[in-house]
Amino acid sequence: MKIAVIGAGASGLFAAALLKSKNVDFVLYEREKRAGKKLIATGNGRCNLTNTKIDISRYHGDTNFAEYALGVFDNEKLVEYLEKMGIYCTYERDKVFPLSLQASSVVDMLRLAQGKCEKCECEVTGIKKTGKKFQIETKYGKETYDKVIVCCGGKSYKSLSGGGAYNLLTDLGHTLTPLSPAIVQLKCDGTKALEGIKVNATVNLDKQKEDGEVLFTSYGLSGPPILQLSRDAKGKSIKLDLMPQFDFAQITHMLQKKAKIPYITLDNLFNGILNKKLGSEIIKKCGFSLSMQANELSLQDFKKLVGEVKNMKFHIKDTLGFDNAQVTAGGISCNEFEPTSMESKKIKGLFAAGEMLNIDGDCGGFNLQWAFSSAYVAVMSAIKEN
Ligand SMILES: Cc1cc2nc3c(=O)[nH]c(=O)nc-3n(C[C@H](O)[C@H](O)[C@H](O)COP(=O)(O)OP(=O)(O)OC[C@H]3O[C@@H](n4cnc5c(N)ncnc54)[C@H](O)[C@@H]3O)c2cc1C
Repeated sequence: MKIAVIGAGASGLFAAALLKSKNVDFVLYEREKRAGKKLIATGNGRCNLTNTKIDISRYHGDTNFAEYALGVFDNEKLVEYLEKMGIYCTYERDKVFPLSLQASSVVDMLRLAQGKCEKCECEVTGIKKTGKKFQIETKYGKETYDKVIVCCGGKSYKSLSGGGAYNLLTDLGHTLTPLSPAIVQLKCDGTKALEGIKVNATVNLDKQKEDGEVLFTSYGLSGPPILQLSRDAKGKSIKLDLMPQFDFAQITHMLQKKAKIPYITLDNLFNGILNKKLGSEIIKKCGFSLSMQANELSLQDFKKLVGEVKNMKFHIKDTLGFDNAQVTAGGISCNEFEPTSMESKKIKGLFAAGEMLNIDGDCGGFNLQWAFSSAYVAVMSAIKEN
């Protein structure tokens, strides 16, 4: 049996390494100059491989479909397998990283495990099925295989993985669901003056809530809690609690006490409590003059200021789009694949894995776990002779 694996990203490299370990003849095709370009950029170059709290609630899209693969090849099995391939892991709370903290080492070891035999700069332009065999088309001609595993990734970060190859599956009759960028920065008005400020905040969007460091930028908002809440955020309002460790009354009391110091004007009211620039922006947003004496504020005025601290609101005009998104929400419909084998219900012998399917996970290792779990199930099914 000979298998074609298309795409040498997270799922394709892992699939190839598994095929090699099972002594199955395969060819791994890659469009880019080198394998694992996106994988090298993951986790800020440290590669957040998985999460100890893998749970279906952290996934979106055709989640029922993903449950089998994530259960049969969970985070513990992944860590075990990675160790077999020479990648040892370390834990930062729930997040799992390679012990080296280098994403490049993950790519190196996966490439070694599959025999460094990927065909780079060899884009697959078409898949045809004739009889029981598949023909894979590239600029170099056509090659024949018994089975194909398609691992071409999503539309996100075109610079790292070429922006997907959904047409390979849609040309074979599969359906593409609408695509949108996820795990991405948000464009909002009113942040330019705050550019560069980082603050630990609680971020609220709809009924979702995330804690962590928010970064104000010239275009809007970034930082882990923002990326986490970015899915379907366009057109909505996001609210920041800039002092989540204190309640409304505690902050009011703190400010009233400080305002009693005779030399405190409003430009210094937040100084020493919040980031100074952020404090001044809040005063201006509430319509007060920075030169006003703090002891002239009424209780209503204090409430207005604290309201802004606890509930700073931004309208989300848009996201920074696919070119900056870590993942693609949407993809090839999973209804047309078997969850227990990742095999197409339409075309026998055709398998798909990873981000190109309509599954995306939260920030924190959930997407790589999906890439690895789905690749595992696809390989284990594909190598069964029938
Ligand atoms: C900056 C960044 C940081 C991230 N950090 C994390 C993280 O820390 N943890 C986490 O879980 N997730 C992270 N992600 C998401 C994660 O990288 C992806 O979900 C994962 O790589 C998807 O794996 P994949 O194999 O499906 O696709 P990819 O890794 O994108 O691989 C697809 C491969 O297929 C190739 N290809 C496409 N079309 C063709 C074709 N026609 N012929 C041949 N080859 C083709 C592409 O060039 C690419 O190499 C991050 C993403 C980005 C962009």
